[in-house]
Amino acid sequence: VLDTAFFHRWLTAAAAAVSREATRLTELDSAIGDADHGSNMQRGFAAVTAALEKEPPGTPGAALVLAGRQLISKVGGASGPLYGTLLRRAGKALGDDERITVRQLAEALRTGVDAVAQLGGSAPGDKTMLDALVPAVDALAAGGGSFAAASEAADKGALATVPMLARKGRASYLGERSIGHQDPGATSSALLFAALAEVAA
Ligand code: ADP
Ligand code: MG
Ligand code: MG
Repeated sequence: VLDTAFFHRWLTAAAAAVSREATRLTELDSAIGDADHGSNMQRGFAAVTAALEKEPPGTPGAALVLAGRQLISKVGGASGPLYGTLLRRAGKALGDDERITVRQLAEALRTGVDAVAQLGGSAPGDKTMLDALVPAVDALAAGGGSFAAASEAADKGALATVPMLARKGRASYLGERSIGHQDPGATSSALLFAALAEVAA
C-alpha cells in the first residue's frame, strides 16, 4: 500500500535522478532536438520539490496533481505540458484516497499515459516518451505489478527508440536523420520509473 509519503519520496528521487542525468538528457536532445531536455526537466522537477515542501499535499493524488501543475507552468518545452498532463491526470484518477494500491497506481498511470498520447497526437513507435511509458505501465499492470519490472520495461523501451524514425516533436523535423539516436523524452521517462523502483525497494 502506497501513502502520501511514498509519493513524496518518489517525486524527490525523480528530481534527483533528472538532476544527476541532466547533462546526458541534454546531449541526447542536442543530437535530435534543441539541446534543452536536461535543463527543462531539471527546472521542472526543482519546482516540483520546492512546491512539495511549501504546500505539502495530503494525499497521493494531490501530490501528483501538484507536481503536474508545476511541470506545466515551469517548463516551456513540449515535455512540460506532456509530463504535466501525465502526472495531473494520474493524480486526478487517484482521487482522495490516502492510501492506494499498486494496481490503482497502474490504472491511474494508464489514464495519464492515454492523456499524453491524446495531447501529443502520438503513439508508441513514434520515437517519444510513450515508447518508454507504455511498456512500463503495461509491465506494472501485468500480474504482480512490480516496480522493478516496470523500470526494466521502461529502459528497454527507451533503448528501442534508437533505430526508430521520429514522427512527433522536434526530432521529426530531421526525418531519416533522427534514426540512430535515443529519444531524450523516452530516456527521462525511464528515469522516472527507475526512481519509482528505487523508492519501492
Ligand atoms: P522541446 O522539444 O520542446 O525542446 P523537450 O526537449 O523538453 O521539449 O522534450 C522533448 C521530448 O518530448 C522528446 O524527446 C519526446 O520524447 C517528447 N515529445 C515531443 N513531442 C511529443 C509528442 N507529440 N508526443 C509525445 N512525446 C513528445
Ligand atoms: Mg528540446
Ligand atoms: Mg525546447
